[in-house]
Amino acid sequence: MTIIDSAAMLPVDRSIEIVLETAQTLTTEPVPLTASQGRVLAEPALADADMPPFDRSIMDGYALIASDTRADKATLQVIEEIFAGDTPQKKLQSGQAAKIMTGAPIPEGADCVVMVENTTLNERGQVVVHEKSEVGKNINQRAEFVSRGDVLIESGTRLRSMELGVLAFIGCVNPLVYRKPVCAILSTGDELVDASQTPGPGQIRNSNIYCLAAQLARAGADVRVLGIGRDNPAELSALIGEGLKADILVSTGGASVGEKDFIGQILKQHGVEIHFDKVALKPGKPTLFGSRDRTLVFGLPGNPLSALVSCELFVLSAIRKMSGFGDPAPHTIEVLLGQGKVNTLNRRQYIPCVLRSEGPGQVVDLLQFKGSGDLTGVLGTDGLAIIPEDEPPPSAGETISFLPYSL
Ligand code: AMP
Ligand code: MG
Repeated sequence: MTIIDSAAMLPVDRSIEIVLETAQTLTTEPVPLTASQGRVLAEPALADADMPPFDRSIMDGYALIASDTRADKATLQVIEEIFAGDTPQKKLQSGQAAKIMTGAPIPEGADCVVMVENTTLNERGQVVVHEKSEVGKNINQRAEFVSRGDVLIESGTRLRSMELGVLAFIGCVNPLVYRKPVCAILSTGDELVDASQTPGPGQIRNSNIYCLAAQLARAGADVRVLGIGRDNPAELSALIGEGLKADILVSTGGASVGEKDFIGQILKQHGVEIHFDKVALKPGKPTLFGSRDRTLVFGLPGNPLSALVSCELFVLSAIRKMSGFGDPAPHTIEVLLGQGKVNTLNRRQYIPCVLRSEGPGQVVDLLQFKGSGDLTGVLGTDGLAIIPEDEPPPSAGETISFLPYSL
């Protein structure tokens, strides 16, 4: 029995690969820069000019010729004042200086800037320089940061605040980005009532839909809530038909082997090809993945923690692929195992954990949580410790992989 069961389960890595092979990157659209945060750039962003575009001062001070400062104190004639935005009018000769502000262009002839704090003005309006300067000091050279035509942001990069700043900087006010995947979500179960209701006997609140919607939105999906589907084939079929119009349909519950778990058979009736329906994963074994044309379908387990883990691994990978991420697979980091014991299984385990620093490293302690029905055990955790299947259990101090919850 165990052997048959285990053979039918697909390893997690292979399951993620199948999702990523099936998911197709969406089309692109220009969006206003102000609305582009979180979107994924669909073409490289190139520098439209050198940066800085001219040699400029890093300091408020005096532009001068470094060799004039060899003596202990150099006394120089101030011939001009140059503010940011000005164009210098005079060529500097030996014995002369120009008062200059941060960001202003260096005048011809000058080769360094001495900061104002290292100078004094004498009664004749000359500047006395108290430092021996060097060629290039306090000057940003033209093109020191980037040259015209350099790739500043690669295609496939998710846009954050600093990318928006750089796009503005190169005048790209309508960046080309990938379309957001439209993600229809559905909870199934006769026991569910909306979170705004008081559950009657045998009922529970539909927490999954809220958790899921937030996870998907955070990953960049355009979420459409279909609501609660009763465990009734006709009703579920109508909702699934509606959901299949989206780029991704995600349901929770009803995908297992219970007598009212209809999701798999209804999906097949709608022409959905099922790619897998059991993953060697805990929590999250009864995860179903299918597709119809370009629409992906995920049937997640109903248990709140199982749904969260399964969404994190599979649905968010699909969203990243569809929305153009260069590297859409989940990103794990290496950490040390702190306290806590675990038995290994024939399924890979993902255990919610708090990440903490200890000495030079990052450490996770394995929490004792009360099973995949208890979402409160996840509160305050930073991600999922990964316990590989079919290996001796890791002991304290060993390196293990950790999947931070995705941004
Ligand atoms: P199922 O996958 O439908 O067999 O459900 C597994 C467990 O998860 C059951 O205890 C359900 O009551 C619970 N569950 C299913 N759907 C939800 C939901 N949307 N929100 C909270 N708990 C749920
Ligand atoms: Mg159910």
